Amino acid sequence: MITRTSPVEATSGPRSAAEADESWRRVLADAITDLDELLDLLDLRPSQVDADKRAVGAFALRVPRPFVSLMTPGDPRDPLLLQVLPARAELSSAGGFCADPLGEKNLAPVPGLLHKYRGRALMVVTGACGVHCRYCFRRHFPYSDHAGDWGPALSYIGAEPSIQEVLLSGGDPLSLSDAKLSRLLAEIESIPHVKRLRIHTRMPVVVPNRVTPTLVDRLSHSPLQTVMVLHVNHCNELSKPLRKRLLHLKNADVLLLNQSVLLRNVNDSVDTLANLSEALFDNGILPYYLHVLDRVDGATHFEVSESEAKRLMRGLLASLPGYLVPKLVREQQGAPSKTPIGL
Ligand SMILES: *Cc1c(COP(=O)(O)O)cnc(C)c1O
Ligand code: SF4
Repeated sequence: MITRTSPVEATSGPRSAAEADESWRRVLADAITDLDELLDLLDLRPSQVDADKRAVGAFALRVPRPFVSLMTPGDPRDPLLLQVLPARAELSSAGGFCADPLGEKNLAPVPGLLHKYRGRALMVVTGACGVHCRYCFRRHFPYSDHAGDWGPALSYIGAEPSIQEVLLSGGDPLSLSDAKLSRLLAEIESIPHVKRLRIHTRMPVVVPNRVTPTLVDRLSHSPLQTVMVLHVNHCNELSKPLRKRLLHLKNADVLLLNQSVLLRNVNDSVDTLANLSEALFDNGILPYYLHVLDRVDGATHFEVSESEAKRLMRGLLASLPGYLVPKLVREQQGAPSKTPIGL
């Protein structure tokens, strides 16, 4: 029997819960994509920032409004703004920087899967992200070749008993609908040798209501151990709505870890990094990796030298308990893991 719901009824009861569940889609669709609008919202004049519209030709501007609301109006050096601002510096190339610094194009045994390290394989489930981070090493990645059909990746994992952990990455895997994710999880859960599921995502940081009750419920009922690796670079990104949603994930027994990228003028001080670790742990998240920048074209202005990175790490070790100090790593082509940077 088909029951029709009148517009009045639609505002209450289970229907509205389902709608609230999907409200993240509107927030995502309403993201800022225009530089002038972004600057307007922040009370900034174009002359105050080092932005250049030509930079968005290579990589579009994209910032969800909840993330903009965490920036300080009138501050051209806001650490969150600098992560998304299409800078003039992006237009200049530099020696050693290239489009595919990790050589990932050649590491996919089948489309949509990267299998670089023993025991774990990474599925590129979508090319879409909630936010466009200007330093991103995947900014030139040919996603259209990869995202879409998961069949070959799932068959590969199924035929490779050494793979105990499946990572969902992208793009941002939480760009997918809960229904699609749930179908994908069911496929992964049906592979007997897979024990762990790991979701690498920045979406909750920029659109907190993406952590829907449906998603939390689905993860809590998975037979797999689930890990979520967030990507937070600065403590200002840990908004109240995000903290609330993270608590739901914690209560669903999802282990929360964080990876950051060391970025010039964003988080390149001992105090900023220590505050970030403290704020993460206040919210039940453990710092995992601190990545040095991958040398991707257009990101030269974010680079922190290796000697400076080591100095910052020594400062962190002197200020925090060991479990709050992230591992400083770089990604090296052909290496069997992320490569730790010794101090
Ligand atoms: C970073 C990465 C992983 C995960 O490495 P961990 O050290 O386990 O966090 C797995 N696969 C690929 C392709 C990666 O780039
Ligand atoms: S969310 Fe992650 S993958 Fe997407 S642009 Fe930012 S750093 Fe890159």
